Amino acid sequence: DQARKDRQTVLFDLSREELKFHRPALVRELPRAIAAGELFMQYQPKIHLRRQDIASAEALVRWQHPSRGLIMPGDFIAAAEEAGSIAALSLWGIKQVIADQRRLAATGHDIPIFINISGVLLADADFVVEACRLLKGSKAKIGFEITETAVIRDPAVALRHLQQFADIGIPVAIDDYGAGLSSLAYLKQLPASELKIDKMFITQLTSSNRDPLIVRSTIDLAHAMEMEVTAEGVESPAALALLSVMGCDLVQGYLISRPLNFDAFLTFVEKEGH
Ligand code: C2E
Ligand code: CA
Ligand code: CA
Ligand code: CA
Repeated sequence: DQARKDRQTVLFDLSREELKFHRPALVRELPRAIAAGELFMQYQPKIHLRRQDIASAEALVRWQHPSRGLIMPGDFIAAAEEAGSIAALSLWGIKQVIADQRRLAATGHDIPIFINISGVLLADADFVVEACRLLKGSKAKIGFEITETAVIRDPAVALRHLQQFADIGIPVAIDDYGAGLSSLAYLKQLPASELKIDKMFITQLTSSNRDPLIVRSTIDLAHAMEMEVTAEGVESPAALALLSVMGCDLVQGYLISRPLNFDAFLTFVEKEGH
């Protein structure tokens, strides 16, 4: 028993070491990686169920590292937030998505693209000014996905900054709804037009007893607040059918399409129509 405890301690310390050394080392490379063009965006369509068209797309960042290979955002976003490099990463992302959205529009498919914006940036006045400047000067249709927890940290400042985005016509989607600390008080105040139900309630939708109840009541709540509802993590035809019956507005997930490189996304758009 003691031996097992020792082994667990060693494993625990190793993972702590990983966090202490490897992640920060990786994140210190971010400025170089951005300059070297190692980051790129993939795009995942969101389908409007009743209209049967592509309503928008979500941009998801990836890092093609020269020696470590492909690195997913789960492995560097949180560390970038802690290291203070998330603003630079997000400004790069906004510029990239503006360029790609303009390319998309030029092909006749003027589909809005939503970017994930870390909560810490809603407290960063310099970031907000610069993001507004970039977006105001472009004609690109760009939206933001933010989590509610972003607002709970410093509600007054976050809500003021979100209002600045709303004032220049940037739609806001509330991301990962139901996964964190949800507060109806903040939800009511957010200038958001879309609510995204976290995929933890969607991937098991048709094999769970409770998830359908939660999803249905969330759809009704969002509609009562005049928001559109997106279900993310739609992986099965059965989930899609149930969401359709429940009146869900938008669906996103592997069933429809994985996140795609820009050219593959364009091919998808041209095949599916808009
Ligand atoms: P998220 O915003 O909740 O994005 C949804 C995640 O679910 C993505 O993972 C997506 O690839 C994945 N996904 C899509 N469809 C399905 C499905 O049917 N089933 C399952 N199981 N998963 C699905 P990804 O790309 O690894 O991104 C992870 C997280 O990293 C995102 O979660 C978002 O919070 C963050 N992230 C991604 N790109 C950016 C970015 O440019 N900036 C910031 N700040 N965060 C980003
Ligand atoms: Ca998102
Ligand atoms: Ca999400
Ligand atoms: Ca998430």
